[in-house]
Amino acid sequence: PKPSGDPSAMQMKSYACQRRTPLKHHNSFLTEALEILSQNAEYNDNEGRSVAFRRAASVLKALPCRVKSMEDLRCLPCLGDHSQRVIKEILEDGSSREVESTRQSEQFQAMKALTGIFGVGVRTADRWFREGLRSPDDLIRTGQQLNRAQQAGVQYYNDLQKPVTKVEADVISDIVEKAVHSVLPGAEIQLMGGFRRGKEVGHDVDFLITHPEEGKEEGLMPKITNWLEEQGLLLYQKTTRNSYLEKMDGPARPPNNMDRFERCFSIFKLQTSAVRYKSNFTAPAEDVSTGRENEKPSERDSEESGWRAVRVDLVVSPYSQFAFATLGWTGSKLFERELRRWAGQEKNMSLSSHALYDSKQNLYLRAKTEEEIFAYLGLEFIPPSERNA
Ligand code: ATP
Ligand code: MN
Ligand code: MN
Repeated sequence: PKPSGDPSAMQMKSYACQRRTPLKHHNSFLTEALEILSQNAEYNDNEGRSVAFRRAASVLKALPCRVKSMEDLRCLPCLGDHSQRVIKEILEDGSSREVESTRQSEQFQAMKALTGIFGVGVRTADRWFREGLRSPDDLIRTGQQLNRAQQAGVQYYNDLQKPVTKVEADVISDIVEKAVHSVLPGAEIQLMGGFRRGKEVGHDVDFLITHPEEGKEEGLMPKITNWLEEQGLLLYQKTTRNSYLEKMDGPARPPNNMDRFERCFSIFKLQTSAVRYKSNFTAPAEDVSTGRENEKPSERDSEESGWRAVRVDLVVSPYSQFAFATLGWTGSKLFERELRRWAGQEKNMSLSSHALYDSKQNLYLRAKTEEEIFAYLGLEFIPPSERNA
């Protein structure tokens, strides 16, 4: 590639898993706009359109410099007519009318607020929107039927809206490590998701847990959650047991990006004093329990109460699937999606967080490391920090 400031000088591959996408890039002024349109398409149950905008945004994230004119976009893949129109308008006028009116629209704002509640998906949010509901407060006010997850989602809404910092993630890592080692010495714990990709904040903290002796990890999750519960560290948890069977989940099964590991979606109660201590700002503060744990989120102040709620995902993987699980839980979501699309369309293989199946040879390919999986797929290895597609 020419060492110039011309974005079109580099050869841009068309699958996100063929490219390096750093966390910080030069085109947020365009990618944020395209991602609004992607999100809006998702709210309108138009997955194809949503992915198209997301792919377009992702290409711009991989560029070595800021886009200055439409000329710079020559030769770039994944930029459809609609995305190009939006980009052109932003380059010429500083903003796109479609993006701005979407951002301001009542539907977009309500869907964002409602799907932002833990336990609420697009379907439910859309139904509520059509019934005239706009916010978590509306749900409380009208006494909507909520399942257990949604109740927790509404109760801890304000805390869960606040980004989780890396320091908070590190404090939670220490807690998870202590819990896991108390119930299964020798187990291995790995930080996954956005924090593994080098993000400084996240919407949750993701962990993958395994044990080098295959079989030892079976039934581990209830032991971990019991330990955490006894310590008073859990505000909510829902554990799903492992339902993966190679025979059933093989190529005959329709592709589904939900994996089948034993997993736990949880909400931790994180002491803010522990976080201050870790970040070395001040000495650990007095640990005051205010006994006001059941208040509404809007009335709760984590500064005052001494703790905050944090979403934590725990996943347990058998050792033989650990490399696949690691690759599958590192993200980003688009990177994962593109990996699976590459495997299917270009390699006649089927990739999941459990295994890689080669349809031509009719066999499962074993791997101990992520590097081996990229090699099977005929892809250059992309480190986690450059999977921010
Ligand atoms: P954030 O910082 O916002 O949390 P993230 O990249 O960590 O960003 P997550 O939603 O926590 O996003 O997902 C982390 C990874 O776990 C993603 O790569 C995603 O593919 C994977 N993942 C999340 N939920 C599931 C699920 N139910 N089944 C399989 N994989 C999942
Ligand atoms: Mn995450
Ligand atoms: Mn997660």
